[in-house]
Amino acid sequence: MTTRALSRKKPRVAGLRALVVGLGRSGLAAARLLASEGARVLAVDRRGEAELGGAGAAARRAGAEVRFGGHPPDLARHAGLVVTSPGVDREEPILRAARDLGVPVWAEVELAYRFCRGRVVGVTGSNGKSTTTSMAGAILRAAGIPGGTGGNLGTPFTDLLERDAENAVHAVELSSFQLESLDLFRADVAIVLNLSPDHLDRYGAYEDYARAKARLLETQAADGQAILNADDPESERFESSVRGRLFRFSTRIEVPEGAFLRGGRLVSRVGGREEEILPVADLPVPGEHNAANALAAALACRLSGCGADAIARGLRAFRALPHRLELVGKLDDVAFYDDSKATNLDAAARAVASFRPGTVLVILGGKDKGGDWPSLAPLLRTHARAALLVGQAAAGIRSALEGAVPLQDCVTIEAAVRAGYESARPGDVVLLAPGCASFDQYRNFEERGDDFRRAVEALLPSRGRDA
Ligand code: ADP
Repeated sequence: MTTRALSRKKPRVAGLRALVVGLGRSGLAAARLLASEGARVLAVDRRGEAELGGAGAAARRAGAEVRFGGHPPDLARHAGLVVTSPGVDREEPILRAARDLGVPVWAEVELAYRFCRGRVVGVTGSNGKSTTTSMAGAILRAAGIPGGTGGNLGTPFTDLLERDAENAVHAVELSSFQLESLDLFRADVAIVLNLSPDHLDRYGAYEDYARAKARLLETQAADGQAILNADDPESERFESSVRGRLFRFSTRIEVPEGAFLRGGRLVSRVGGREEEILPVADLPVPGEHNAANALAAALACRLSGCGADAIARGLRAFRALPHRLELVGKLDDVAFYDDSKATNLDAAARAVASFRPGTVLVILGGKDKGGDWPSLAPLLRTHARAALLVGQAAAGIRSALEGAVPLQDCVTIEAAVRAGYESARPGDVVLLAPGCASFDQYRNFEERGDDFRRAVEALLPSRGRDA
């Protein structure tokens, strides 16, 4: 007998011609699921087979047909369902053709949701999604609740279904690209962490970007729970999108329903009932923004049935994700932090503000995403000893920040690490928080962070510096 949740949502795809557009990790997961459910799957990708590693072979093994090197719009004619990977633009001709023909077009997360029996904690926002999703995952594990952690981060939602059960809770990160096309997807608990300009290179307008985020709230059922950031003025715009019950988190005020700090401790208050969780000093990651992420994750998990003890254990067990304000080394009392994931100015500012005033040598630059650099000047004046400029954006940053803080043109991260170390005093921090994308010099932010780590490690033989 199927379960209540299954009979409510699980679609029948057996015999259906399903077209999967984009054969990255999510596309491959979708192709596998559809094939295992009896659909006749064709998976297509713009890229060549070699570029995609083993994805083609894996899809074929699962029973899908695969075509590389393009996706002609004509293919939509033969499809009963189209499933897209998050990297594929909604305006791709093949997706437009499918919509025009009335063929359902689902994001991979939509497909996964329809097969999912457990509850979903959906996490979005401009910054902190991966951290908060992983914190929630750590708490759910500590509480012994089955389910998985993934989505836009790491494992595609579809692959989390291997750990699905009726009592499972999945922590799922959702990017605005994934949210654009949600249909029946309903997060049981929806967190919108914050909103600041990002991806303005892809989203023509800030409003469109905000609207995509709001989909997570608008698609919720009336018995869903929505979590918003009381400290972020931009989050007010989301209140009109809330369909479920509204909770807030704050590091600054005691919100009536939600989670907040009191006397240096994290506290949650739900239905008027308060629970103390743990001292903020026990969180294994620095900065007010990480306290905010922990409050949001703790609250979501409390609303999903976790007790205060499990929440505290989960948060204590959490470790900084790679390239997110990660301590990579210390030399002569100078600490080196990799926040390569700080690809926009808000994230870079949070990173700088996480350290004591006057102690930060911050590496800025890369491929500019259209950030408002002068807005960083007041924070740099108080917190930074110097800014070390790298990459394509260096000249623009220099003209925006001249006079606010000593600037040094370093071109490469390796040179910036050396320059930072040379000018640092004991107790200082050399921080990679570039506020830019990495694509001018690297394939992705991970490679940039790895390069930073290598540059730090290369300093180690010069230990004998006078200090
Ligand atoms: P996302 O998945 O949204 O990109 P991450 O958790 O990977 O978020 O963090 C991205 C960047 O934003 C990192 O540089 C991190 O230090 C910073 N950050 C994390 N949480 C927040 C927050 N709540 N507000 C602002 N910046 C944050």
